[in-house]
Amino acid sequence: MLDNRPYWNMEIETFFNTPQMKKLQLYKLKVMLHRLYENAPFHKKRFDEVNLNIDKIKSLEDFFRTVPVYDKQEYRKHADACGGDLIKLMDNEMPISVDDLVLINSTTGTSGEPTPYPLAPKDIYGVWGEVVAGRGAWRAGLRKKDRLLFCFALSMVIAGTGSLIPFQKIGTTVIPVGAESGTDRMLQMAKAFQPTAFMGTPSLASYLLEKGSQMDLNYVFLGGEPGAGVFEIRNKLEKGFNAKVFDCGAGYGFSCDHPTYQGMHWLADDLCIYELVDPKTRETIPLEDGARGEAVFTNIEGDGWVWVRTSLGDIHEVTMSPCPCGKTGFRYKIVGRTDDMLKVKGVIVYPTAIEGLLENFTPEVSGAFRIVLTEKPPLVNPPLKIKVERGKDFPEEKLNILEDKLLSAFHTKLKIRPSIIWQKPGELERSTYKGAKFEKLYKE
Ligand SMILES: [Zn+2]
Repeated sequence: MLDNRPYWNMEIETFFNTPQMKKLQLYKLKVMLHRLYENAPFHKKRFDEVNLNIDKIKSLEDFFRTVPVYDKQEYRKHADACGGDLIKLMDNEMPISVDDLVLINSTTGTSGEPTPYPLAPKDIYGVWGEVVAGRGAWRAGLRKKDRLLFCFALSMVIAGTGSLIPFQKIGTTVIPVGAESGTDRMLQMAKAFQPTAFMGTPSLASYLLEKGSQMDLNYVFLGGEPGAGVFEIRNKLEKGFNAKVFDCGAGYGFSCDHPTYQGMHWLADDLCIYELVDPKTRETIPLEDGARGEAVFTNIEGDGWVWVRTSLGDIHEVTMSPCPCGKTGFRYKIVGRTDDMLKVKGVIVYPTAIEGLLENFTPEVSGAFRIVLTEKPPLVNPPLKIKVERGKDFPEEKLNILEDKLLSAFHTKLKIRPSIIWQKPGELERSTYKGAKFEKLYKE
């Protein structure tokens, strides 16, 4: 296969978002639903409860209308019904046996309890790995000659090791460090093995720069948080690492190298059906330019990791018209999460937006911040309290002037007037996992 071909999978990626693809999706959906009905008692029950007749499904919309969304609450109910036995839970939800799994990744979620991502070889190489370590990374330019410093947490994130293994597809050399190792170890490994690419969270990448990283990279692959889509963060990382910055995840997507961030291209039409729903009514929202809603996924390929109208709680905005980069796949941006959305006097605010605004003020501020919540979100009794760290060379006596500028930016850009609680440089704890955005002072 040619090293300069535009797509990793020339046969499939050229057919994204076409009527033929929709036909293929419907066909594959029915095959998957039959597999689940016969082998996954949890889904059999779910389908029976709504009298789903798989053979009578005439369109994707028929399926959307009939089967309810599976979200965190549904997961919790099922976990409780299994008495907390997650092996039983997986066995109930998968079309294969737990004996066929080769890897279990997990997220910790907000509750601190693990949520499993069970993976069989097909899931690692044919689905998740095909998208991230094949289609997405190939478009970005990653090749066999590259060395990838892998700094996602190895187990406690959605894909972890499951993202590391499939880079064998391209033949890239992976150097696993893992967020667990801490930044000193990462910088040491980087010095020793001279990576050309980095993979990890945006907050970790920023922190490595703060710690004096000398890495000269070609590619920075980000995920786990929506920071790569924030102009200021992307700009800082591009300059700091002398690299192109991409983000991936929150579904099967990967951003492109257009100079202006275009969102992530959805790279999995043949593997997973993408849908937007109203977060309240759960009604399907038609996919058209500018449509916003809660993203819902249904895998039509896969063995262990099979989502069936599953929501991860992310709010997306889609653009269906062709991307100026010229590559296939519609685009989605993460606008926020259903569970970190805040409402201040009727104005909806996501922490990502605050992060982006503060990045605009670096180096006067460090970029680190915490939203102090005194009551359970989303409703916030104004003013919204935000702890903001001043930059390491910014004089304390000039904070008044800076605060005025900040407040005016908050008012124009986000339509809120927060109360700023100033912190000394380095006072806020840095996280190597996901940037913790909230300080919760209320009882759950
Ligand atoms: Zn593009």
